[in-house]
Amino acid sequence: MPPDKINSPKIIREILSARNLAPRKSLGQNFLIDDNVLHKIAAAGQVDAGDAVLEIGPGLGALTEILVKQAGKVVAVEYDRGLFSILKERLGDYRNLELLNRDILAVDLTVLAAGCQGSLKVIANLPYYITTPIIFKLAESGIPWETMVFLVQKEVAQRITAAPGTKEYGALTVMLNFYGKVERIGNVSRTVFYPEPDVDSAIVKISPYRNREVQALYPRMSQLAQAAFRQRRKTILNALSSDGLFQSKEELGRFLTEQGIDPNRRGETLSVAEFRSLAAGLGFRE
Ligand code: SAM
Repeated sequence: MPPDKINSPKIIREILSARNLAPRKSLGQNFLIDDNVLHKIAAAGQVDAGDAVLEIGPGLGALTEILVKQAGKVVAVEYDRGLFSILKERLGDYRNLELLNRDILAVDLTVLAAGCQGSLKVIANLPYYITTPIIFKLAESGIPWETMVFLVQKEVAQRITAAPGTKEYGALTVMLNFYGKVERIGNVSRTVFYPEPDVDSAIVKISPYRNREVQALYPRMSQLAQAAFRQRRKTILNALSSDGLFQSKEELGRFLTEQGIDPNRRGETLSVAEFRSLAAGLGFRE
C-alpha cells in the first residue's frame, strides 16, 4: 500500500496517535507539511541516481520519500525509536533506503560514507536544538561531501551568512564560509510545520570547496575562530595570546602585523580571508 502523503496536521496526528505517540519538542520534532517546500529542499540538492544522500532526522519520512525516488541511495538517521518504527513500516520496501535508529552525533560518519557509492550529499530538515554541533561534525569529518542542504532556524541562516562586525558574525560564519560556498536558498514560514515552531526557517546550501588547503587548515582555522569569538569584545592580540600559540605577546603582535592585521582590532572584525591568512601563516611556522 503506498503511504499517505504527509501534508496535513490531521494525517500526522493520525499516524502518531495510532501508535500512542505525539511530537516530541525535546527532539525538535516539527514536521513539514508543505509539498512545495519539501520539493524545494530536495531540488536544492540536485539529487540524481549517482548520489548517496545522508538525511538527518527523517521523522515520518516526508522528505525521505522524495529523496529515495531521486537518489541511488539514501541513508536516513532517526533517533526517535517510535518514529523509526513508523519509517520502517512506511518506507521499508525501498531497497535503496537504509534506515538507522541512531543519534547522528554518535554515528561514525567515516564508516557510514564508506558504505556509500557515488557523490555524497547531506539533505536535512535539522533538529534545531543540535543544528550547530551537527553542521560542525559534518564539516570536521573530512568526508568529501559534494553538497549540503539544510533547513535551519532563520537566525542560524543569518549567522551563517553574516558580515564581519555584525552581532550574528561568529565562529560558525567563519568556519562555514571557509569550508564552502554558502547560499541562502529561501525563507520558510513557521506555518508550514506541524506543530508550528516559535521561529521561521530558511533553506541554506553549502557547497564544500574540497581542496587540500581547506583540509589542511581546518583545525587551525577552528582554533583561531574559537579563540577570537570566545571573548568577542577583546582585541585579537588579547584573544589569541591566551591560547598558547605564541611564546610571548610581543611575538604574537609581530606576527599579526606581518600578516597585515592591526593587533588592536577586535577578532569579530576580521574577515574570513584574514582568518585564513592567519591560519596559513601559523601553518608555515611549523
Ligand atoms: N524530516 C522530517 C520533516 O521534515 O518533516 C522531520 C524533521 S524534524 C525538524 C527533526 C527530526 O530529527 C525529528 O524526526 C527528530 O526525531 C530527529 N532527531 C532529533 N534528534 C536527533 C538526533 N540526535 N539524531 C538523529 N535524529 C534526530
